[in-house]
Order: sequence, then structure tokens, then C-alpha cells
Amino acid sequence: MFGGEMTETLNIPLQVPIAVVGGGLTGMAAALAFGRAGMRVALIVKPGAPPPDLRTAALFPGSVQLLRNLNVWAGCEAEATALAAIRIVDDTGWLLRAPETLFRAADMGLSALAWNTANSAIGRALEAGVAGCLDILRIETAATPVYSYADGGLYIRLAEGQEIAACLVIAADGRESPLRTFAGITVERHEHDQTALVTTFAHSRPHLNISTEIHRQAGPLTTVPMPGNRSSLVWVERPREVARLLALDDAAFTGELQQRLHGSLGQLSGLTPCMTFRLQDMTTQAFARDRIALVGEAAHVLPPIGAQGLNLGLRDVADLAEAVLAAGDPGSADVLVAYDRVRRRDAAIRSRTVSALNTSLSSGALSLQLARGLGLHTLNAIPALKRMVMQQGATGSAPLPRLMRTG
Ligand SMILES: Cc1cc2nc3c(=O)[nH]c(=O)nc-3n(C[C@H](O)[C@H](O)[C@H](O)COP(=O)(O)OP(=O)(O)OC[C@H]3O[C@@H](n4cnc5c(N)ncnc54)[C@H](O)[C@@H]3O)c2cc1C
Repeated sequence: MFGGEMTETLNIPLQVPIAVVGGGLTGMAAALAFGRAGMRVALIVKPGAPPPDLRTAALFPGSVQLLRNLNVWAGCEAEATALAAIRIVDDTGWLLRAPETLFRAADMGLSALAWNTANSAIGRALEAGVAGCLDILRIETAATPVYSYADGGLYIRLAEGQEIAACLVIAADGRESPLRTFAGITVERHEHDQTALVTTFAHSRPHLNISTEIHRQAGPLTTVPMPGNRSSLVWVERPREVARLLALDDAAFTGELQQRLHGSLGQLSGLTPCMTFRLQDMTTQAFARDRIALVGEAAHVLPPIGAQGLNLGLRDVADLAEAVLAAGDPGSADVLVAYDRVRRRDAAIRSRTVSALNTSLSSGALSLQLARGLGLHTLNAIPALKRMVMQQGATGSAPLPRLMRTG
């Protein structure tokens, strides 16, 4: 039933092995992963240009390799900066302070721990990749599709009248994911009393390719190197404090930021417009069910601490591709069980780690301060342990899937 030719004719269902719903970064990467492997893919997206995204994402080596393997990294490189080290500074003001800690790429034999890349550049490069892939049919729809099961497949009816029948439907439709709701997959959500203020700025001193995380009680304030003497900023604060900061003019804002950075980047200028994001955790009860697989923020939302979100989304894509490309029916129960097993565990571990770090900053409990301080002291004292922790943060414990490896 799913072997027919691709057609755009109304009323006759378009039959494809894979449909992807959602044209964000993860959805486009998923469409390309399967399209470039020669599978026909319907990519269902909202019409019009996406809202401007001024954020950057620190992409771990495996994510960069995935973009290389999908032939889109060349389009991102000009707006990517290698991170040679990550510096953690305790500015919590608690009684027990953690020591300053430097995680260096060279200690792991790597040229970079991550590449800080403009989201807009990743988006443009993926869009160009999608447009150039003959096996991907990009379909715009203005409303949420209607889903139903029939004839062993999943049917997607669009408001414009077109129907698509797919063996596997990939939900890349974001944190509110209507497709996840249709699948009956429940989530656990926690909204934090914290907001991330995001902007970029120029500075008079060089960043030396070092990202600095200043741990404060309200949350971390992180600067991440960009090309030249510029950095991106993710400043986590209490919502009321963010409202106050947003009301400041550029000079007053840069003055406050300079103070928080203890002058480490010199004089600040050239602030770009600020964006804000309320911090949220979301974990899902299942990553897949009944011909539906969740990827990206449809499956997990983490606070922007430790650069996990998009890296996790790309890992979802790579692990799903590994499971599907080895199978006959891409939506079979075997594929979905394998995918659910590997992704749910990894996402849960990372979510718990980010959450524990975030809680340890705001908590005045001596036990938590001691644990954080001792943890960093131990890492500083035992280089092999430090390397292991860095490896875990970037790739997790399972071997990297093929799409994230060279060769
Ligand atoms: C401040 C901040 C900093 C971050 N920094 C990093 C970082 O350094 N490193 C990192 O790895 N991650 C980072 N992240 C996380 C990263 O930005 C997200 O994980 C990523 O953007 C999520 O992409 P997505 O495609 O899964 O979801 P989205 O971008 O939400 O995409 C979902 C798409 O689905 C579409 N959609 C929704 N409903 C439908 C429908 N019914 N039909 C069709 N389409 C639909 C939407 O239009 C949208 O295009 C950060 C996040 C924040 C907030």
C-alpha cells in the first residue's frame, strides 16, 4: 500500500514511508536524514517564514558530524565558533563556594568541545538541504492536521484537503506537539520561576574561545563565543528581575552585565535585541507509539543549561534513523520499541542532571552546596574523572549512532 509514486494530486492520498510534521531545526534534520538515505519523505510545515531566531546553539562534535553527514555543515561554518574551553565560576555567594573549574577540549584530545552556531545559520543550511533533496516533498499547511489510523498506516489530513498516508510519522511539532496528544502520550512538565534572557554583544577583550558559566543563585549567566569579539548571552534570572533588566536602556543594561561578568570581557557594546524564554522541564512517558516517533522538543524540554536541547534533538534523529534504516517497515513495533528504549533513558538522565545543577544553585542547603563544591574539587583533582564527565555531557554513555560518526 505504501509503495506508490509521489503525487500532489488532491484527494488521492500521497503514500510515503515517512512523514515529518514540523519544520523547525529538528524536523528539517529528520527529513534530511531519511531523504538523503533515499526514503521518500513528506515534510509538513507551517506556511511563511519562521519568526526570527537570534539564539545560538553550542553543538557538540556528534551534532556537527551529523550536519556534516547531511551535507549542511558547510552552510553553518561561517557562523560557528569553536569552543576551546568552558569555565565555571561560582558567584552564588553561598557559604561553601565551588572552585573555579576549566574544562578544556585539549584535555580530551579534541580541537573543540562544541561549536557555537547561529540558529538562523543552521535553519538556512537545513532549508537549502531540504530544497535540494529530491526525495523530500515539503508541504505547507495552515492548520493542525487531523490524524487517523487505517489500513495499517497513519493518515494525515490537511486543512487544504490533501491526505498523506505514512508508515511512520515523526512528531517534530514542538513542545505542545498535537501529534503527541493524538498518540495519547502524556508528559510531565515543570515550569521554573526563572527566565532566560538571550542577546548577543561585542566586547573589547577577546573571548579566547572560552565559554564562561557564572553560577549565581538565580541561575547561570553564560557567555558563549561567537566570531570576532562577540559573544552570545544566556542570562537566567527571576522573571521580575528580567522585567527590570528589559526596561533598562542599552547603556544601563551593558553596565549591569559588565558588572556581573566582573569585567572579564572588557567594555561591552553592540547589544542586539533581547529575547526571553521561561524555563521549563518536560519529560515524556514514551518516545514512540503506534507509528508515531517523537523528536526534539516534542519529546523533551530542558532549561538552557549545559547546551543540551538541540543536541538531544539531533541525537533523537540519528538514533531513529539507525533503528529505521535497519528495518523493513519504518513504523514497526520493533523499531519504535528500540527507539523508545534508547532515547527515553538518555533524555531522562540529561534532564535530571540539568535539573540537579539548577537546583543546587538556588538552594541554600549546605548539603547541596557541599556536593557541588566537592564535585568540582574532585574533578579538578582527578583529570581522568573530569574527562569522563566531559565525555558523558557531550555524548552520553551509549555508542554514537552512525549519522554522528565519521566515515
Ligand atoms: C535560550 C535558549 C538557549 C538554547 N541554547 C542551546 C544550545 O546552546 N545548545 C542546544 O543544543 N540547544 C539549545 N537550546 C535548545 C534548542 O534551541 C531547542 O532544543 C530547539 O530549537 C528545538 O527545536 P525543535 O525543532 O525541536 O522545536 P521547535 O523549534 O519548536 O520547532 C517545532 C516546529 O513545529 C512546527 N509546528 C508546530 N505545530 C505544527 C503543526 N501542527 N503542523 C506543522 N508544523 C507545526 C512549528 O511551527 C515549528 O517550526 C536553547 C534553547 C533556549 C530556549
